[in-house]
This record gives sequence, structure tokens and C-alpha cells, in this order.
Amino acid sequence: MRINSFSDVSLRLLMVLCSAPEGELSTTRDLAEQVGTPYNHVSKAVLKLRQMGLVEAIRGRTGGVRISPAGKATTVGQVLRVLDDHQDAAECRTEMGECPLAHNCGLRGVLNHARESFYVSLDNVTIYSLARKTNDGPVPVMLSTTRPG
Ligand code: SF4
Repeated sequence: MRINSFSDVSLRLLMVLCSAPEGELSTTRDLAEQVGTPYNHVSKAVLKLRQMGLVEAIRGRTGGVRISPAGKATTVGQVLRVLDDHQDAAECRTEMGECPLAHNCGLRGVLNHARESFYVSLDNVTIYSLARKTNDGPVPVMLSTTRPG
């Protein structure tokens, strides 16, 4: 299973913010550097994470963002359910148009069920726990990414 690049950047941001010292504020520019992503992409992801209540923003010259209590408690599955594309697991299109099997296909439902199982398997994995593991060594769960279609 793949997640889109917006979800991936958002998860990276949350991991970085979870691993920051308690209460420390980070600027969007610093965060962009830390997650290796252009500023404007990070800015959009930070805005969305604020809307979701997962990060707090402090305005002003010395302001920035930090993880919120809800952000510390959230799980990878909860974030993906909001941010991922929820596209069908298979594209179901060929170069000639819709897949000719689309009207009587048993495979599509099975693949979509597998996608839901993917989210369920991540429902109990807190981002905070991943951030701690990242600090201690390699993260055992690797997520591949793809650009939204
Ligand atoms: S066989 Fe089914 S799942 Fe695969 S592309 Fe066609 S409609 Fe989609």
C-alpha cells in the first residue's frame, strides 16, 4: 500500500515535532529543512495539521509551531484516514479507458478491503512512539509514498 506525498510530509512533520524538547517552537522554515521538503509544501501541511488540532501555533517574532496534546496522542492510522486520498487500491483504467472487467470485478473490493486493513494496522501506532524510535535508531515501519493522481 502507498500513501500520498502530503500524508507522508505531514507524518514526517509530526514525528519531528514529537521529538522536539517539550514546548519548543519550530519555524516552518526550520521544519522544511528538517523534513527535506520545499517550504510551500510544508506550510500547507502545517496549516492542515493546525486545522486538525495536532499542532499549536504561537504568533509573533519568536513564534512557531509545536506538537499539541492531541498530536502526541494521535496515531498513524488516524492521520492517514484524514489525509490520504482514499482512492481505490487499483486505478481501474487502461490506456484505452475503463478496465473492461470493471462492471463485474471481484478483485477491486478485495483490494479496497486490504487498504482498510492497512489503516487498521496503523490505528494503534502513535506518531509519538515512532518519533522516540527514530531518535533511538531505525524506524521499523517504512511507508512508501506516491504523488496524488
Ligand atoms: S481487474 Fe478489477 S481491480 Fe483490476 S483494474 Fe480491472 S476493475 Fe480494477
